[in-house]
Amino acid sequence: MASKLNLIFIWYYLSFLVLYSVCFREDQWGYHINSQWGDEFNVCNHTHDQSPIKIVYKDSVYDPVLTPPILHGGWTYVPTSVLMLQNNGHTIELVFKDRHIRMHGAHLTHEFYLKQCHFHWGESIDQQGSEHWLNGHQYDAEMHCVFINVNFVEGTEAETYDREAWAVFGVLIKFDAEKTNPYIEYLLSHTEAIRDAGQNYSFNQEEHKADIKHLLPDDLSEYYRYQGSLTSPPCYEFVVWTIFHNPIHISTHQAERLFELHNAVVEQNEGFTNITGNFRPPQPLAGRTVFRSFNKANAASTPQTTLLTIILLIATAFILY
Ligand SMILES: [Zn+2]
Repeated sequence: MASKLNLIFIWYYLSFLVLYSVCFREDQWGYHINSQWGDEFNVCNHTHDQSPIKIVYKDSVYDPVLTPPILHGGWTYVPTSVLMLQNNGHTIELVFKDRHIRMHGAHLTHEFYLKQCHFHWGESIDQQGSEHWLNGHQYDAEMHCVFINVNFVEGTEAETYDREAWAVFGVLIKFDAEKTNPYIEYLLSHTEAIRDAGQNYSFNQEEHKADIKHLLPDDLSEYYRYQGSLTSPPCYEFVVWTIFHNPIHISTHQAERLFELHNAVVEQNEGFTNITGNFRPPQPLAGRTVFRSFNKANAASTPQTTLLTIILLIATAFILY
């Protein structure tokens, strides 16, 4: 009888373990249920210090100490067999497996190394999908380059309260039929090899000719700075954000390749779906100050206000004529 009870107990225990591993693994979260992230990752429910946010030029504060970030170890990335592209089920990620590229300056108190760059995009090619908004405008997509504090011990994320554990660059992206981005081309030409979640592609030595600076805007001196969080679970609030004012462009044809990637993780038991809409909506600013590194007369212009200005100028010219 005792052994029968033991068997029943073991059966229930194993069933629980299987159920737990299927339902509650850390990567079992999805963008389409972002309002429920806090059920399992309670930091995501915080109403302070969460990211992304809506940034408005006229509401930000100019701070002259915000000098341009300095990358060293060389802009050109020529190591051996340490550059990898992977589909993690939520996004496409360019992973740097050593600590070759270092970053400092930009009024950060530590030195950081580049860990990975990844992308966020919309539900479809003609719907916006950036995480941060700028001057009332959501962009087509957004790239994040994640730098880790050299003093930060990986695996201690849950315990750390260092507000500068991670420093993340946010780069807004515009899709433009006419503008092919050569470095993005270099990356996305390998998406066929990482179509399914969990697949990765290691660049061979011949391919290590790309210059990482082509991923970033030409002008790194104009950016916004605020204290925030990871934009996906577990939403830890240890990120110093640097959001560049100027976007980069990639062609519509290049962007289409992002929408062909498969997501094997989120929609449980429904098989593969394409990765779309992998952005978190803006979170409350909640009294935080957004600083900026620059002053610019027309920085607050949106495409709409620019168009209105042109129409008014033409109308004025006609009246004067
Ligand atoms: Zn991100």
